[in-house]
Amino acid sequence: MSDTKLQSEVQTVADPGDSPVLIYALGGLGEIGKNCYCIENDNDIVILDSGVKFPEYNDPGVSYIIPDFTHLAQNERKIRALCITHGHEDHIGSIPFLLQTVRVPVIYAPRLACALIKNKLAEYNLGSKTQVVEVDENSNLVCGSFKVQFFHVTHSIPDAFGIYVTTPQGTVATTGDFKIDLTPVDHDFDMSRLTRFGDQGIDLLMADSTNAEKEGYTPSEKNVKKGIDEVFSRAMGRLIISTFASNLSRITQITQCAIKHGRKVCVMGRSMEGNLKIARDLGIIKISDSSLVDPDRVQHLPASQVCILCTGS
Ligand SMILES: [Zn+2]
Repeated sequence: MSDTKLQSEVQTVADPGDSPVLIYALGGLGEIGKNCYCIENDNDIVILDSGVKFPEYNDPGVSYIIPDFTHLAQNERKIRALCITHGHEDHIGSIPFLLQTVRVPVIYAPRLACALIKNKLAEYNLGSKTQVVEVDENSNLVCGSFKVQFFHVTHSIPDAFGIYVTTPQGTVATTGDFKIDLTPVDHDFDMSRLTRFGDQGIDLLMADSTNAEKEGYTPSEKNVKKGIDEVFSRAMGRLIISTFASNLSRITQITQCAIKHGRKVCVMGRSMEGNLKIARDLGIIKISDSSLVDPDRVQHLPASQVCILCTGS
């Protein structure tokens, strides 16, 4: 997420005589974290993402910073759905707190985010509070007077989407987090679908991308793999690599390099273990049991045959 976002905090798409459509953010603008947009008219509210922000050094004792849900609590009867762009914590992390504040009839999320959300709700014992429904680029959702569709984008986690919302007053596209990477590790950015939405008309485009204000191009994720491979080639002893547990594209690259260089992968940390299990169950990360090693067995292997994967970067 960028420090400074390109869209203003509140946009109104109004047509005199009809119910105005309000588009506002409860978090995620001018900050990194707690992304949460809402689209609202007289009858309905659709929420787009519900993330957390992680505390800084000057927030002692704070576990998570979440959006202020007061307005949603005051308009609970209008909430039709929560639609998710992708499974990063700054887009799904505050869902348990949202569900403890208001009733959300249904959460629509892409495949991986769906699995991560279900896991999260089970952890908080909130599984019965709502239903979580998987969506993809073919989904056409009707949420009250709003129609919701999705388009695939490239990001550092698989199954990342932008969302196209048709309201009675006009259309809104939000990209979610994205990088236009011509040689991505995962899925291509579906430009043709976004172009089709463009042909239909986009009255408001909400787009942001880290460092969008800087000139030039961000290198492809494929280049990162080259760098990781070089590190594996040079390393003589034990390799310890830390990354975000939710950066599954990067974790995929690391596990592939470990297998290629004859190292067993030792996963440390609850979130890393949980995410790797979900990604393996979904077939997103392909690594056999024999290529993994438990933390308590690492010391029995030669250092040159081990790669420890942990969070804390
Ligand atoms: Zn993200």
